[in-house]
Order: sequence, then structure tokens, then C-alpha cells
Amino acid sequence: MPAENRIEIHPSLLQKLHRIHRQISDLTSQIARCPRQIQAGKAMVDEGSKVRDTAKETHKTAVLACDAKQLQLQSREDKITGLEGKLKTAASNKEFSLLKEQIAADQQANEVLSDEILEGLEHIDQLENEVQKASENLDRLEEEQRDRVKEIEAKQQQLETELSRIESELKETEKDIPASAMADYRRITEARGEDALAPVDGESCGGCYQTLTTQLIDRLRMSLLIRCPSCNAFLYTPESRQVT
Ligand SMILES: [Zn+2]
Repeated sequence: MPAENRIEIHPSLLQKLHRIHRQISDLTSQIARCPRQIQAGKAMVDEGSKVRDTAKETHKTAVLACDAKQLQLQSREDKITGLEGKLKTAASNKEFSLLKEQIAADQQANEVLSDEILEGLEHIDQLENEVQKASENLDRLEEEQRDRVKEIEAKQQQLETELSRIESELKETEKDIPASAMADYRRITEARGEDALAPVDGESCGGCYQTLTTQLIDRLRMSLLIRCPSCNAFLYTPESRQVT
């Protein structure tokens, strides 16, 4: 028979240890969440920055395209002026009407181009608006992130202080564990944290819900150290059912 059969341990000690281990795992997971929350906020800022850069790039491309069209319009207008000059010196009716045709074609092309330029300018206004909105959104995201980081870092510090307080309490409380149970206790708590201990729930293990034998329950009532035969947790009677 294992040595635990003879070890006496007060249920309130196991209950307290369980409470402390639960607090430690809760604090540890809250602390682990802090950098993930900061990272998630940073991802939102990065996304906002990408949207702003894309808007800027789109705006720049549209401005360049519109500038090119304006140059094209200007050079065609210069060409029309040149052709109009030649009208006065046309040597024949045929040449005159060819020049007229050419001028009319260029003027028509320029009308189309002018419309395109107007549309382009309107589009550029919209794009400027979008750059503005994306920049404002990015500013907001960055400000929110600065606040978030400050808040989370403060919270993390508070949680770490609390954790070291609870860890000291654990060390203090572990001094009351019978020496003969210590090795088992160390092994199972290191492997399973808060699941190393479980309250008895009715006739079952509160950790894995395995039904316990009457013999085990009786031994528990005698404050003997009992391990759940199924999940191996140290079992204890919860406070409301402890005999004082
Ligand atoms: Zn169990």
C-alpha cells in the first residue's frame, strides 16, 4: 500500500492550497493575456497605417494621371494654334479644308480630354478626402493604442505584484504539508497546477467526477491524505462539510 495511506492532513490545508493554486493559474493566464492584447492593438494600428498608405498612393497615382492629361491637352491646344496659323497661308482649298478637318478633330479630342480632366479632378478631391479620413483614423488608432499600452502595462504590473504576494503565501502554506507527502505534492502540482487538488463533490471527485468508494470517503473523513484513483488529485472535503 502507498505511503499516503498513513498520512494525516487537515482538509482546510488542502482547500487553502487549492485556492492558492487556482489564484496563481488565474493570475498567470491574465498576465499572459496582457502582451497579446497589446499585440492585437498594434495589429489594428498596422492595418490603419496600411489603409492610409494605400489611400496616399492611389491619390498620388490619380494626380500624376491628371497632370499627364493636362499636358496632353496643352500640347494639343498648341498644335491647334499652329494649324490655325497655317489656315491663313493655305495654298489651296484642299489644303484649307484638310487643315479645318484636322483642327476640328483635335478640338473634339480635346473636349473629351477636358471632360476626363474634370472628372479626374473631382476624383482627386474624393481621394484627398479618403486620405484625410484614413489619416484621422490612424491618429485615433495610435492614440487608443498608446492609452491601451499604458493601461495594460499598469494592469500587468498590478497582477505581477499580486502574483508574487500569492506565491509567498503558497510557500508559507506549503510549510504545513507533511514531509512524507511533499514529493508527491511537488510532482503533481508542477505537472498539473490547480488540477493537482480537487474537492469531493458529494460522493465524487470534484475534478474528474469519478465516483469514490465508501472506503475512500471514510478515510477522507479521518483526515487521511487521499488521491483520486482516476485523476490522481489530492482530495479534500470542502469547508461546508468539514467536521470541526
Ligand atoms: Zn478525480
